[in-house]
Amino acid sequence: MIKPFMPKLVYFEPKALDYPLGERLMEKFKDMDVEIRYTTSHNQVRNLPGDNDFQKYRNAKSTLVVGIRKTLKFDTSKPSAEYAIPFATGCMGHCHYCYLQTTMGSKPYIRTYVNVEEIFESAEKYMEERAPEFTRFEASCTSDIVGIDHLTHSLKEAIEFFGKSEYGKLRFVTKFHHVDHLLDAKHNGKTRFRFSINADYVIKYFEPGTSPLAKRIEAAGKVARAGYPLGFIVAPIYLHEDWQEGYYHMFERLHEELPEDAKKDITFEFIQHRFTKPAKRVIEKNYPMTKLELDESKRRYKWGKYGIGKYIYQKEEEEEIKTELFKYMKKFFPNANLEYFT
Ligand code: SF4
Repeated sequence: MIKPFMPKLVYFEPKALDYPLGERLMEKFKDMDVEIRYTTSHNQVRNLPGDNDFQKYRNAKSTLVVGIRKTLKFDTSKPSAEYAIPFATGCMGHCHYCYLQTTMGSKPYIRTYVNVEEIFESAEKYMEERAPEFTRFEASCTSDIVGIDHLTHSLKEAIEFFGKSEYGKLRFVTKFHHVDHLLDAKHNGKTRFRFSINADYVIKYFEPGTSPLAKRIEAAGKVARAGYPLGFIVAPIYLHEDWQEGYYHMFERLHEELPEDAKKDITFEFIQHRFTKPAKRVIEKNYPMTKLELDESKRRYKWGKYGIGKYIYQKEEEEEIKTELFKYMKKFFPNANLEYFT
């Protein structure tokens, strides 16, 4: 049973206290056994405890920086949404394969942005530009937003903000089961609540610091009963001994938990395991004991953007994964929509 995330060290940027969320967080952490420090900017967050990079990396993942989002220009987020909406960056999880290890580099601490209203104003403008088309916003491009929301409630506010909007939709994905405070949010059907799920083996060996499958499935049941449209990302799909059974069992348990109504509008996204050369180097540094298979010679090279190609499964393996998982999905969720396999 994994407890909700609690940072050991919290930094406040000075302006953060000008915002109600900044103040609330300060009050909250003052009453707790958490070390509070001040910093002029997150870039100044140095001297994290630890004698070496390995320890510093671990300590950074239990460090929270409360600050302001300066760039209110949103990145695009194809194919699942038009824009990435930034409420936080970084994550407390320790998934060995996580892409944040490469994108966040030397700054793996978690940042939360307290200027939520300004972020909403920016979203409003993006929606106006596209109206009467819907604009979809993805809230989990740079973090596992649900994992820290029990502290900030900014995701909850976002769910209600888009619930009231005419042309906005919100989506995010999580590996955490701490969803109770989101169940009474007035989502108005505008938020697709997605869980990242996997075979038990993958969660056990490669996703330390996140919720076990049984807990995620239980949380998905609660979310479904709260009337949210649901989605599941099965990623990374990873070949291991008896993988067929592992994935079959995952679909079966999901099917047992979810109410019939929820199964009518459900989406799946399938992503096979991949790695790049730079990612492999970081993974081996941060998780030197990992069992994650990162042998280029066993994989197929696929050219990628910016000249950084990725190593994916061989064609026959890929076909087998696709066929098997699609079969299980159809067996248990005949009305589900597979958004993509990649
Ligand atoms: Fe990365 Fe998601 Fe794992 Fe967090 S939960 S470490 S964001 S893969």
